[in-house]
Amino acid sequence: MTARISEYRLDGIYRQRQDGFFMQRVKLAAGVISASQARAVATAATRFGQGTIHLTSRGSMEIHWLKEADLPELKNFLATVGLTSRGACGGAVRGVTCSSQGAAGFPALESMACRLHRHFTANPRFERLPKKFKIGIEADTVSRRHLIQDVGLVLAASEPSATSYDLYLAGGLGREPQPGFLFEAGVVENRIIPLIEAIARVYAAHTPAGKRLKHLIREIGEHEFRHLVALEPTATEELPPVTGLPENLVPCSETTRIVARVPAGELSSDQLTGLAGFADSFGGGILMVTADQDIAFHVSTVLDPAETEAALKLAGFGESRVTFRVCPGSHQCLVGLTPTRDVAATVIAAMGPLARSLRWAISGCPNSCTQPQLADFGIVSSSLVKDDQGQRSPRFDLYRLGSEGLGNIVDCSLTLNGLCDRVREIG
Ligand code: SF4
Repeated sequence: MTARISEYRLDGIYRQRQDGFFMQRVKLAAGVISASQARAVATAATRFGQGTIHLTSRGSMEIHWLKEADLPELKNFLATVGLTSRGACGGAVRGVTCSSQGAAGFPALESMACRLHRHFTANPRFERLPKKFKIGIEADTVSRRHLIQDVGLVLAASEPSATSYDLYLAGGLGREPQPGFLFEAGVVENRIIPLIEAIARVYAAHTPAGKRLKHLIREIGEHEFRHLVALEPTATEELPPVTGLPENLVPCSETTRIVARVPAGELSSDQLTGLAGFADSFGGGILMVTADQDIAFHVSTVLDPAETEAALKLAGFGESRVTFRVCPGSHQCLVGLTPTRDVAATVIAAMGPLARSLRWAISGCPNSCTQPQLADFGIVSSSLVKDDQGQRSPRFDLYRLGSEGLGNIVDCSLTLNGLCDRVREIG
């Protein structure tokens, strides 16, 4: 049974904390999903789960409270609308993320993310890797999300005949946060896939099971890693140019971005169905899961902004809220140390106006799934400490983002009260 459950990972399935229940993660390239697909996810969450959907900071959707017997039918159901979970968990190339959905160059990034998603998803050559392998693609370095990927691509030049990317390598968070480094600047678009293939092959061949690419670089050094990649036949290969019609789904001309703020990334099936309806009416039938666990739309500028805002409000998403990325924590995650949604609510209650204007993130364990090292203030549930009566109480590390790189710990092992005191001090 245990062996079979671990096999589910490559199908994007994790065991939930609650015995007998599972979580299914759905991969979305650059966070993009059509309204009809979103309706299907909502239907699946109601039919197979408990009618809730969790949005992740990597632009995926997760359905919790699934029963093992329903997993094959759910997989087929999602496949009928062109959705896949293959490689969404386990040692595989995970969903290709993009936090630049509001950038002018997003259509090109979305197209590239689709190509990468198609190439590496369910490709047996890039499954059963030592651990997860994350690719992100960004319009610029502002969000610093290129620093936390195994391969982070940043648009360097975007002329139709010569699109190129700066390729960053071996970033990652978790217990040992490590910013990625610039591996090669200005890689022409047609070399991106073969070069990532070469990198992934070296990673697979030289890294112990359970370790990320950052571990390999630490062990053998950047120089040796570059040497090994250069020996790979695809390291300098250039694919034929991609021709044909554009493949981005997100409407791109004469649009403005509207965001439905989703508290803690938690949506009901009805809410997601309502947002799909909004997308059909105003957003060209397309929704985008954002890096802050919200849903964004590109709305035509010819539409009346007051009308679109009123429609979003009617769907229940008109209120502003503190930007606070929240993982499932011990509410559902097997390794979560704290009930993150409850902790986030307590922290928000302690915030003054300045704190409320900043970006926050909390992770229920040091795995740092919500990228707390990239929030203005990030909270990591670092441990559970036993008191004299044998009661376990959580401790939190507080991270602060500086002017470059990843955020650093400014306070460690805070109690919840101590954490709230620190939040009050921010103002
Ligand atoms: S940060 Fe930890 S608790 Fe939160 S989802 Fe990731 S693994 Fe689970």
